[in-house]
Amino acid sequence: MELTELTISQAHEGLKKKKFSALELCRAYLDKIEKEDKEIRAFLTVTKNLALSQAKKVDEMIAAGREIYFLAGIPMAAKDLILVQDVRCTAGSKILENYMAPYDATCIKRLKEQGAVILGKTNMDEFAMGSSTERSGFFPTRNPHDLTRVPGGSSGGSAAGVAANMCCYALGSDTCGSIRQPASFCGVVGLKPTYGAVSRYGLIAMACSLDQIGTFTKTVEDARIVFNIISGKDDLDSTSIKIDKIKHPKPKIGNITIGVPKEYFAEGIDSRVEEIIKSAIKKYESWGAKIKEISLPYSTDYALAAYYILMPSEVSANLARYDGIKYGHFTKKAKDLIDFYLKSRREGFGEEPRRRIMLGTYALSAGYYDAYYLRCQKIRTLIKRDFDRAFKEVDILMTPVAPTPAFKLGEKLIDPLSMYLADIYMGAVNLAGLPAISLPVGKIGNLPVGLQIIGQAFKEHEILSIAQIFEKAC
Ligand code: GLN
Repeated sequence: MELTELTISQAHEGLKKKKFSALELCRAYLDKIEKEDKEIRAFLTVTKNLALSQAKKVDEMIAAGREIYFLAGIPMAAKDLILVQDVRCTAGSKILENYMAPYDATCIKRLKEQGAVILGKTNMDEFAMGSSTERSGFFPTRNPHDLTRVPGGSSGGSAAGVAANMCCYALGSDTCGSIRQPASFCGVVGLKPTYGAVSRYGLIAMACSLDQIGTFTKTVEDARIVFNIISGKDDLDSTSIKIDKIKHPKPKIGNITIGVPKEYFAEGIDSRVEEIIKSAIKKYESWGAKIKEISLPYSTDYALAAYYILMPSEVSANLARYDGIKYGHFTKKAKDLIDFYLKSRREGFGEEPRRRIMLGTYALSAGYYDAYYLRCQKIRTLIKRDFDRAFKEVDILMTPVAPTPAFKLGEKLIDPLSMYLADIYMGAVNLAGLPAISLPVGKIGNLPVGLQIIGQAFKEHEILSIAQIFEKAC
């Protein structure tokens, strides 16, 4: 087995037993990036010197006979909207092309305290807007399983990086599926935690009430390890919450009732995806779980529509700060101040952020606020109630992540609406603030397909344990 194929636990054991050094491990990944990333293009920035110096420190600790933390010396990558001090952070946008992060995001700080080795920053759709990573302001990323296809998005660089063994694990963010969908397309484990479980401090905001940082890993166990480190209360994010990490008894499969929402298998789903998801659910049944068909009437019919009003509304406010003065790109020739703002923003932002800023500004304007924004907030409450009702009858939910496997590069680029529809099964989870995982459960040819397991708020460990049952058995 190559060093870059090891899981976190295997790499940790290897380091502890001195089978290889942290520097060797780090170099193996840097070589892999150098060789493979020319084609896949998962990375926007490779932080070679930072990674090597972090690895060296871990080796010194091991040489001095000191205990090392679980993540010490393990090479990782972060989506390029998570701040790493003194490293460029672009959010996939030309408007932040030369922006240097002045501080560490809380999750990065926690990982650094563990001794993590940061290999670099991964490609993404501009400001996390997209489902294919083709809307990066720089270049598209390709799916390692089939270079003619997208890796999914918006965290496509992180997913492709893990799938191609160019990092052991990676961080991403999920506002409406941006961890789960690329994880599904690339055949890795993607965990979107409960809203508030992981601090958003140092995450460049897209839509604050929906954004959540999560993980891409090779195994479910690895997801648990990273989640345990990055989650929990942070005084710098008032929406973060203290999480009890010690008590989480493993659920017994015989006591679990799995809800299968019938609306998630309606028209539009690729029949081969449907078959793979249903057969995964059947396996759980054969292991003793009870399966119950349920209904989430608002979650598929209205979630995406509500999302595409609420998200751009928040986007229009969050992206107002990029004015060429406080941040980022600014125009060289302007008549006056207004002209300066307009030109700087027009030059810096790509098509998709511009589209969403306009949609959001419209939805929030006087006269339209009640008809759009307020109404969608009410729908959001109804979606939340859908889940509350479901969780009175069942413990967890299982659904597809995406209606299709990875699509071809360029296939949905000309039609934004068809790109938005790729998120159909994921938005409700963000609107309700729930945790969910994408677990690889099958393949169509060489294209992976993920099962979405949705849990109750702050019950990440339950989802992870249930996912692990499949992973161990199959
Ligand atoms: N496809 C979603 C969008 O374009 C993804 C958002 C996300 O999760 N960051 O809005």
